[in-house]
Amino acid sequence: MARIVQKYGGTSVGSVERIEHVAERVEKTFLEGNEVVVVVSAMGKSTDQLVTLAKEITDSPSKREMDMLLTTGEQVTISLLTMALQKRGIDTISFTGWQAGIQTEESHGNARITNIDTARLENELSEKRVIIVAGFQGATENGHITTLGRGGSDTTAVALAAALNADRCDIYTDVTGVFTTDPRYVKNARKLQAISYDEMLEMANLGAGVLHPRAVEFAKNYNVPLMVASSMVDEIGTMIEEEVSVEKNLIVRGIAFENDVTKVTVSGLPNKLDTLPKLFTALSENNVNVDIIVQNQLDEDSVNVSFSITQSIIVETIRALEQVKEELGFTDITHEEELAKVSIVGSGMVSNPGVAAAMFEVLAANDIYIKMVSTSEIKVSAVIKEDDMVMAVEALHDAFQLAEQETEVSA
Ligand code: ADP
Ligand code: ASP
Ligand code: MG
Repeated sequence: MARIVQKYGGTSVGSVERIEHVAERVEKTFLEGNEVVVVVSAMGKSTDQLVTLAKEITDSPSKREMDMLLTTGEQVTISLLTMALQKRGIDTISFTGWQAGIQTEESHGNARITNIDTARLENELSEKRVIIVAGFQGATENGHITTLGRGGSDTTAVALAAALNADRCDIYTDVTGVFTTDPRYVKNARKLQAISYDEMLEMANLGAGVLHPRAVEFAKNYNVPLMVASSMVDEIGTMIEEEVSVEKNLIVRGIAFENDVTKVTVSGLPNKLDTLPKLFTALSENNVNVDIIVQNQLDEDSVNVSFSITQSIIVETIRALEQVKEELGFTDITHEEELAKVSIVGSGMVSNPGVAAAMFEVLAANDIYIKMVSTSEIKVSAVIKEDDMVMAVEALHDAFQLAEQETEVSA
C-alpha cells in the first residue's frame, strides 16, 4: 500500500466526460490498495472566465473578492469528481483548501502556504475514504480565503504530499511529461525521462508553465518524489528528482521562454552611491517586480539603468519612477514593449564556460539582436524581440541538439 497524491489540471477535468475518466483512474489507484488524495483545478478555462466576469464589473476589484470569486472554480470540480466516484461505489469526500487544513499568509492573489493541519485528512484516510481537495486555495489565520497564484494547484498537491508524508505526488496534465521545451511551440521537443529539482525550478521560474514554481520548491525542500505525466495517455512521465545523470554532450537540458516582457531605461542618473538603492526601493515600495537589471556608466558623473518587467505593470512602473524623478535627478524614462525572454537551462553549464557564447552565436546567426542578458550557474537568459521568440527557441533547440535521444552515462 502506498500513500499517493494525484493532481489533475484544468484540461484534464474540462468536461463531464473527462471528470468521469479521472474518476475511473482514481478508482483504479484506490482499488489497487492505495491511500489516495486527489487535488483538482477548475474545469477548463473557467478561472479565466471568472477573471473576465470580474473585469466586466470593475477594473480594480479588491483582491479579497477576487480570491472569493476564483476559488469557486475549483469547488465545482471537487464536488463533481466526488459524485462521480460515489456513483462508482467509492467512499469519497471533498474538501475546500481551508477544510483540508491549508493555511496561508495574509496576502491575496499569490499567497504562500504557511501551515497544513493534516488532522482531518489523516482521519478520513484512516476511514478508508478517497479525499478530493480543491487546488489553488487556502485561508489565512483569520479565515479569509486566499489563492496561491495562477497555476497554484500544483503547489497544493506537492504541499499536501509533503505534509502527509506521501510516497509520491503525480501531476497529471495535458502533455506526457516535461519536455525539452514547450511541445506546443516546438514540434520536435522531446520528453525528458528525468530532470533535477534545480533545473525544473529554473525552467518553471523562467516561463515553462508545466509546473508552478512553488510546487517544485516544496518538492525539493521536502524531498517529495514528483512525476509529471498525461491524464489521457498511458505513458511513463518525467521524474523530477534530486540528482539526474549528466547526459553525454548535453549541457543544456531544456529551453524556457516567456513573452510580455518590457525593458525600461532610466537615463542620466547621477553616479552616486545612493542612486541604485533609492531607485529600486521606490520600485519595490510600489510593488514593481523587477527581473533583469543592467547598469551602464556613461561618464564619471552619470549612469543609465535598464531593467525588465512584465508588460502588464508598465503604468505602475512609470508612475513610481515619476514620483522620485526630482529626488533622484535623472533626465529621462523610456521603455520598449513586445519583448520576450528566452532561457537555456542545464546543470551541466556550471563547468562549461562556453555555453553563453554558443547561445549568443546561435542568436546572431539568426539575425536576432540581444537586448539584455542574465546568467546563473545553471541558466543563461536573453531578452529579445517577441517576434523572434519562437525562431530563437527552435534555433537553440536544434543547436544544442535537444531533440536527440538521451544517452545515459554513469555519474
Ligand atoms: P494543467 O492545466 O494541467 O495544470 P498547464 O497548462 O498548466 O496544465 O501546463 C501544461 C502545459 O505546459 C502544456 O500544455 C504545455 O503547453 C506547457 N509547457 C510549457 N513548457 C513545457 C515543457 N517544457 N514541457 C511540457 N509542457 C510545457
Ligand atoms: N485554476 C487555477 C488557474 O487556472 C489554478 C490551477 O489551475 O492550477 O490558475
Ligand atoms: Mg498548471
